[in-house]
Amino acid sequence: NVLTALAPTAYLNAQPIKTRRPHASHKGSYGDVAVIGGAHGMTGAALLAAGAALYAGTGRVFVGLLNDQSVTVDVRHPELMFRPIQSLDFSAMTVVCGCGGGQAVQPVLCDVLSSPAPVVLDADALNVIATDNVLQTELLARCARQAVTVLTPHPLEAARLLGQTAQQVQSDRLTAAQTLAQRFACTVVLKGSGSIIASPDHLPVINPTGNGRLASAGTGDVLAGMVGAELAAGKTGFEAACRAVYRHGALADTWPPGAPLTAQLLVLGGCDTACR
Ligand code: AMP
Ligand code: MG
Repeated sequence: NVLTALAPTAYLNAQPIKTRRPHASHKGSYGDVAVIGGAHGMTGAALLAAGAALYAGTGRVFVGLLNDQSVTVDVRHPELMFRPIQSLDFSAMTVVCGCGGGQAVQPVLCDVLSSPAPVVLDADALNVIATDNVLQTELLARCARQAVTVLTPHPLEAARLLGQTAQQVQSDRLTAAQTLAQRFACTVVLKGSGSIIASPDHLPVINPTGNGRLASAGTGDVLAGMVGAELAAGKTGFEAACRAVYRHGALADTWPPGAPLTAQLLVLGGCDTACR
């Protein structure tokens, strides 16, 4: 046999590779994520979230761009599958980020909120919901049906949802996160230094990881994708949020001191071995 002839010692000593994944698994075992976003000028947000979901171990990641239908491949991540939004399967776990505030997103959000699949809502999806009573009613109905929902606002997005100022939110972050979680009956991640994960069913968690190097455009989109990957792997909303927020911050804490930390590099750092 060729292997024994070329490298007999290596062959005889070969051990099965240890992975955390069952040997008899396939991509279908690791869930699907659909990322919706990429309004004009924000294609990168959707790609960052999709890349993060991919690197965090999701089986298949689909992307529906709101504006630029001409993008059909991400050359950095050719694994991503681009689909027209209308043909996206909303029964897959869905992450909405970088969707802009335009009218185009309202019906898409309506479809997403009425789907039974787990959903992560970030950024402009939250800003649009904050100003739209129909969408707020849809979100409340969705959470009342106990469809898994995770909101990931930064302080200003949380303030808009609460009808407060960002200063008010920041002056009592714990109350703000818990109030949002109670109001919508879902899991809320109030991002920032000491991100808070709140849910009506759990004591709130103040995440101990992360640092100011994360204060950079796109890192929130990466987090949204990482939460999506955890949900696609079957975690509850609260577990998914805790695990992703912890890991996202820990990546920044263990980042080499002299190396740049950008959102794109964070995506590449979030590989699945530590996540699963
Ligand atoms: P966004 O505001 O949506 O861009 O998200 C920024 C991401 O970076 C969130 O996950 C924040 O929690 C995180 N982040 C930003 N600044 C800090 C900080 N000073 N300490 C810890 N995490 C941070
Ligand atoms: Mg953001």
